[in-house]
Amino acid sequence: MINKITIEKFRKIETPFYYYDLDILRSTLDVVKKESDNSGYKVHYAVKANSNPGILKIISSYGFGADCVSFNEINAAIIAGFNPSEIVFAGVGKTDKDINAALKAGIFCFNCESIPEIEVIDQLAAKQEKTAQIALRINPYIEAHTHKYITTGIEESKFGINTWELDNVIKKLSDFKSIRLIGIHFHIGSQITRMSVFKSLCARINELQLWFSTHNINLEILNVGGGLGIDYENPDNDPDFHEYFSLLNEFIDLVPGQELHIEPGRSIIGQCGSLISKVLFIKNGSNTIFAIIDAGMTDLIRPALYQAHHKIENLTSSGNIYRYDVVGPVCESSDTFAKYIELPETVRGDIIAIRSAGAYGEAMASRYNLRDLPKSVFSDDI
Ligand SMILES: *Cc1c(COP(=O)(O)O)cnc(C)c1O
Repeated sequence: MINKITIEKFRKIETPFYYYDLDILRSTLDVVKKESDNSGYKVHYAVKANSNPGILKIISSYGFGADCVSFNEINAAIIAGFNPSEIVFAGVGKTDKDINAALKAGIFCFNCESIPEIEVIDQLAAKQEKTAQIALRINPYIEAHTHKYITTGIEESKFGINTWELDNVIKKLSDFKSIRLIGIHFHIGSQITRMSVFKSLCARINELQLWFSTHNINLEILNVGGGLGIDYENPDNDPDFHEYFSLLNEFIDLVPGQELHIEPGRSIIGQCGSLISKVLFIKNGSNTIFAIIDAGMTDLIRPALYQAHHKIENLTSSGNIYRYDVVGPVCESSDTFAKYIELPETVRGDIIAIRSAGAYGEAMASRYNLRDLPKSVFSDDI
């Protein structure tokens, strides 16, 4: 809920902008902290979900680690106060430049997605006279039941090492003098709302863990990745971290001394952010009414890219309900936030909130059409 006082303040701020309710962020982080302290699981915040420096600073202050997919993210995380020794580095296409910089920064672990990548990390680490800690990102072949663009753990996904390659990987391990294998890593997709998917993942991890132990490989770390979904229909609902942690606790078989790591992104930052926009024009179509707003797909690409649904609210009208197509100004038909949704009568100048936009919103903004990047506003500052 965005309260009346805040809405009045919005009137004085140039739109569009991201609004972050830091009370919501902090209460989410409090829950995650409590659950991780109770379980002993290590949290690495997935920086790609939202790398706004102010947001990173708040998250790092909770003592969590970071999960990064480029050296620029690693650098942003370090600047925001994350400890390099608690940063993991994922991605199918790590460049030599990024690997070298990450080695230099002394990150905790490279989550490796192919044998050729491990070979390169080994060579580059040798040159720096360092030992790189790695985890194998394994493709567990689990259907995440989410949008196909954010499903990553099925066969012929570009992500992860296939299980039929594992024999080969461990055969080669002894050749790699500058690599130390510390664990296995998974990430099967994002916006996963069926808890049963995580249960299947746990079962698969237990099987794989057994396979490694029969090959006399001791895994210090199991990293289950991120993916916990949020309720886009009900932006005021928080993700159920308690259920998630309890499920992991119940279904993953940790051996003594082994650490469990998670990499939540969306579930931490999603619900605290809204994209705030003003209505520019109301335009009649043949069968619909268009509410043309000043935010576009360059500010929030999820609806255009993933057919994602975000709840849209008119914060300044309480008139009769009509149906609208809410669209942006960008020269693409996919620049549509929602079709045929109910809103109170909407006029030029009304303030619109696109809710649940904290994750993969600002972080994915672009300058297409040479539009300005969206600004961010924190609840503490207004
Ligand atoms: C994107 C990503 C995450 C975070 O996913 P969420 O769905 O935002 O929780 C975690 N780990 C890896 C490797 C990722 O690529």
